Formats: sequence, structure tokens, C-alpha cells
Amino acid sequence: MTTRERAMLHPNYSVDDRGHFCIGGVDSVMLAKKYGTPLYVLDEDAVRRNCRTYYSSVKKHFPPGSTAIYASKALSFKRIYPVINEEGLGADVASAGELYIAKSAGFPMEKILFHGNGKSEADIRFALECSIGCFVVDNREELDTLNRCAGEMGIRQKIQLRLTPGIDPHTFDAVNTGKIDSKFGTAIATGQAFSLTSYALTLRNLDLQGFHCHIGSQIFDDRPFCDAADIMLDYIATVRDKTGFTASVLNLGGGFAVRYTHDDPEISIEENIARLGSHIMDRCGELHIPVPAIILEPGRSIVADAGVTLYTVENVKTIEDYKNYVTVDGGMADNPRYALYRSPYTVLIANRAAANPDALYTIAGRCCESGDMIQEDVPLPAPQRGDIAAVLVTGAYNYSMASNYNWLCRPALVMLRGGTETLAIRHETFADLAACQL
Ligand SMILES: *Cc1c(COP(=O)(O)O)cnc(C)c1O
Repeated sequence: MTTRERAMLHPNYSVDDRGHFCIGGVDSVMLAKKYGTPLYVLDEDAVRRNCRTYYSSVKKHFPPGSTAIYASKALSFKRIYPVINEEGLGADVASAGELYIAKSAGFPMEKILFHGNGKSEADIRFALECSIGCFVVDNREELDTLNRCAGEMGIRQKIQLRLTPGIDPHTFDAVNTGKIDSKFGTAIATGQAFSLTSYALTLRNLDLQGFHCHIGSQIFDDRPFCDAADIMLDYIATVRDKTGFTASVLNLGGGFAVRYTHDDPEISIEENIARLGSHIMDRCGELHIPVPAIILEPGRSIVADAGVTLYTVENVKTIEDYKNYVTVDGGMADNPRYALYRSPYTVLIANRAAANPDALYTIAGRCCESGDMIQEDVPLPAPQRGDIAAVLVTGAYNYSMASNYNWLCRPALVMLRGGTETLAIRHETFADLAACQL
């Protein structure tokens, strides 16, 4: 495969006549020079296209009332929320901090779903004060606290219960969340889900809508979702038979995969949603239960391919008979995913994106940590100091997972729409680093 072909991993990526890598039709080398590096670039048009795929597929193939909700934790900053709202999606938040950002961006609070296995009373009160749409309750202590706080505030709060269906979607362990042995939710198989559900139905200030499960991330087909749906629909039928309560909502969580390298298959989200939808209808028919509204919570597949990260090459070291190291001006502080999960990425030299590789290079970060790598053994055309390295498909879980380790400043984020750019997050300064220290 040529470098040019490698660069064309997604339709919004291209290489121009000068051999520069472009995203959303904009020259990445120009962006790197204009805004400095490291730099996150987010193609808003691609985010909108991804939202539309979910919005229209859910409307077309799922029962009435079904919705797609953007999982904020993939990438949360003020300017993403109007985009998500305009495209008709709700948003879930995993913390009061994410809720605060969504609220300050004017996102409609009734379209917010609040996740998390460790919500504090302060988090719960803040979310109640914001009048959010729904809590996804993880455990009994949360149920009690939420019921008490809602009562004190005179609110009847909508909730879903987070359950673990006990299936293994065969993804990486750290992103696999639906097994019985999980810190998330309450297991159906142990009977604990049923006692939690029965208990929730007795609580006067809570209005149980239905059940939630999230089986994991980076799932390439509808099969694991159909399996999860089977278990959850069986559970809905059991609860109805035993208690008379019929769930009106089934939330199947997030997780459709994105293509990080050419080794990953191309998948059609719409076809997967269509198959899942007809599977759910059939199963509800067999169980003689009303078809619940289905919620999906995509994060990664909304923003990942819309993003790239640009770095400047600082140095190239060759250890004879071992490896070639290319050190860039960022690393695990702005993208911890290789250090955490050995995540695969496609890396290019953006200013020579049509030049074919001469050898394999390991892209090292600048942190004082041997594990600080972006990717190992990438084919590149002899990188040199001052080159711009582009890491593709970094829109999800990069900025949102960034830290200030080694007191590195977090990079700026530039958004592209219709070929023009807007600075959405400025580069942090040393003064920002010192700002909280008294
Ligand atoms: C992380 C997460 C998501 C989003 O997963 P993606 O793989 O980014 O689509 C959705 N729902 C819940 C509960 C999650 O924890």
C-alpha cells in the first residue's frame, strides 16, 4: 500500500498536490504552522455526518421514540455540544464536570443522561438542580441517595438502571464492561438486578423508565448487541411477569467500532442498526412484550475519524539492529491510548504524505516514561527534525483523556467547517498550569 493510500483511511482525509495531508479539505501542514503543535484538529463536517448516520438510522430502523445519545466522555468541550444538539442527538455525561461544560454550552438539560458508578451526593444534587432528563443509576446506594435528594427538592426524577447482561464482546479487557464481574452496574444472572429493580419500583421520588447496559467499546458488528438485547428483553419480560412493571426504554449503550488502521474492517453503522432493529422487533414479538424505545450511546464513532493530532518531529534516533525512534513534541499526555491499551494508529509525515516509506519508526512521546509511545514500528519516509507527524483518527479519547503529566501544556483544538477553521480550545499556558496552586 502506498503512503497516499494509507492516508485515505476515511473519506474526509486526502493528500494535496504538494503531498500535504489534508483533513476536511484543509492543509494540515498550514494548520500546524499557524497554530503550533501539538495540535488537535476536528473536522466538524465529519462529526455532523456521523451524527446524521445515527439519527437517520435510528429513526428508520428502531421503534418510535428511539434516540441516539452522544457519549460526551469521548470528547467533551463547549463547542461540540451545539453541534450534537443541532444534529438531533442527546448527550450523556459521566461526571458533574462534563455536565457543567454541557450546561455552559447551552445544551438542553432534558436531553442529558447522567452515567457513572461513583456519583457523589454533590454530583447528584448538582444534576437535580440542572433538571437533567435522566439518571442511569448504578447501584443501591445511589438509588437511595437520589431518591432522598429528589424528595427534598420536590422532584420526581426519571431513571434507568444500569445492568450487566453478562456477555463478553471479545474486545480488549479494559474496554469490556458488560461481564458479570464488573465495577459497573448490577448483574442480572446473580439475581441482584431483580432485587434492585423491585426496590427501585418502591421509591416514590424515582420514575423508572427502563434498563441500560453497555457491553464494551470498539465492537465491529451487531452480533454482541443482539445478544445483549436478547438478555435485556428477556429480563424486561421477567420483570413484567413478576412485578407488572413494563419497561418503556432499553438503552444498549455505546460501542460501534471505528477504523484506526487499514487492518480494521470498514463497517456500515446503518446496516448494523437495521439488523439490530429487526432483531429487537422479532424478539419482542416472541416474548409478547411491547417494543421499548431503544437508545444507543455512540461516542467514539461520532468523533474519532473527525480528528487528527499534529506534532512536530524533534529528533530521530537509530539504535543499530534494534529500532528507529522518532520523538515528537507530545505523547502520552495528549494521547495516552497506546500506553494504556496498545491502541493501533495510522501515522504519517504530513508534509510528505505521498512519499513512500524507507523503514519502520517508533513514534515516542516526550514524557519521562519509557512507555510513552504513540505507536511502534510505523512505515515512514525518513523523518527529520521539523517534519509534521499526523496521527489519524484521534478525535475520541485523546483530548478528553489528556493530562498535564510532566507539566506539559494541553494542546489547542481547531475545528474545521466548510474548509475554514475556528480555534475552539486555546493552547494552555504556563500560567494555566500554575493557576490552581496557592
Ligand atoms: C464509554 C461509554 C459509551 C461510549 O462508548 P464508545 O465506544 O465511545 O461508543 C457509551 N455508554 C457508556 C455507558 C459508556 O461508558
